[in-house]
Amino acid sequence: MPYEHILVAVDLTEECDPVIKRALGLAGDVSKLSLVHIVEPMAMAFGGDVPMDLSQLQQQQFDQAKERLDRLITKYPTLKKEHSHLTYGQPRQEIHHLAKEQNCDLIVVGSHGRHGLALLLGSTANDVLHSAPCDVLAVRLLKNT
Ligand code: AMP
Repeated sequence: MPYEHILVAVDLTEECDPVIKRALGLAGDVSKLSLVHIVEPMAMAFGGDVPMDLSQLQQQQFDQAKERLDRLITKYPTLKKEHSHLTYGQPRQEIHHLAKEQNCDLIVVGSHGRHGLALLLGSTANDVLHSAPCDVLAVRLLKNT
């Protein structure tokens, strides 16, 4: 049975190409494909309390992400603007929320296959896998990053 609705999570780096291509291959002409990028609040990255106003920087970050997402949609015409999502928040939480809301049956993410100490730095792929509301495919990315 093919998947009905595939959600591709992209970090908007050049590494999202293999992730998107894998999802496109799986979707074929059958599955609906949605795209998501989460902009993490800057205060979150700095660990909460930051004694300065980050709102302008945050807006720039959001605008930049929107431009990159639009470029991806132009590059891969199968991806549709109306099926692309850009939100603020914590990636795992937002990806799970969207997958549930949109009735996705597969989430596709990239994975660096980190091990040892690097694992302590965390990985979005691992994070997304935990309590995922549907199947998750981790596309192996090359190790030069
Ligand atoms: P990382 O754990 O940061 O190496 O990211 C691994 C994969 O998680 C990426 O290839 C994306 O599929 C996904 N990912 C990471 N960050 C984000 C983000 N901010 N929004 C959506 N997906 C993300």
